[in-house]
Amino acid sequence: MKIIYSPLYTIEVAHKFKTEKFEKTCGLLLKKKVISAEKIIEPEMPREDDLLLAHSPGWVRKILDMKMTPEDELTAEMPVNKDVIFAHLLHCGGTCMAAEIAIKEGLGLHCGGGAHHAHKNYGAGFCLINDIAVAAKKILRQNPKMRILVIDLDVHQGDGTAEILKGEKNIFTFSAHSKNIYPPRKAKSSFDLEFDSGVSGSLYNKSVMENLEKIFSSFKPDFVFYNAGADVYAKDTLGDLSLTMGDIEKRDEMVFELIKRNSCKAVVTMSGGYAADIKDTVKIHFNTIKKAVEILGKN
Ligand SMILES: [Zn+2]
Repeated sequence: MKIIYSPLYTIEVAHKFKTEKFEKTCGLLLKKKVISAEKIIEPEMPREDDLLLAHSPGWVRKILDMKMTPEDELTAEMPVNKDVIFAHLLHCGGTCMAAEIAIKEGLGLHCGGGAHHAHKNYGAGFCLINDIAVAAKKILRQNPKMRILVIDLDVHQGDGTAEILKGEKNIFTFSAHSKNIYPPRKAKSSFDLEFDSGVSGSLYNKSVMENLEKIFSSFKPDFVFYNAGADVYAKDTLGDLSLTMGDIEKRDEMVFELIKRNSCKAVVTMSGGYAADIKDTVKIHFNTIKKAVEILGKN
């Protein structure tokens, strides 16, 4: 099973987003033989015309020229240097490559991606480039009749994705998130499922699945982006829900079974995860990829 990953995803800056989680997740996948080293594919840089599918010319210019202002850093809520911008470009290229693999082989795994707070003309919430919006629009450019469902189960709303993809009749954005945390101003997805703080895993999973089943039967997607945020975890420092690791495994299993039952092609991205112990975040991302391989992988 191929998987997209770059060691350049690890950035040495002091920040609550511990970027070494990607490296550690990839390492665990190798150690436990879920993937083999020769199947790891390094992402390529996205093309400028691909970035322009989802972002404004002004923002794309700032990214490619690597010239962010202090205000841009404040809005993105993270220190931005050339390594950071380069890594974010690679994450975008990686999700685009995972989508190409999914088109050909059915499943595209990305040990990265899911920068869902990036807006059309500014970065936000640790995100600079909306890789899923770019990749979804790129698929539509090549396959205009494809019906694309974005399932965003990060604990924070996929506000940037919702805003950028709004009005695309062949794209449905579904975000299930906590209502009381970031982003303070929620966007309008095609469907938003909001939870109160502390909701249990069983209630979360039941509600997510009931709604997803309805969406699959009415929208009839051909292609799914699954943004499998690990920050729904009870011990996440930036989340406020109460899911155990077992609940999250069940969540992923149900999503992948639904994708399989509906014969959809799928891309899996990691998105957020800020558990007090990084090993927990890594284990959750590991479990997601393992489950995707078990249920949707063919080789
Ligand atoms: Zn998040």
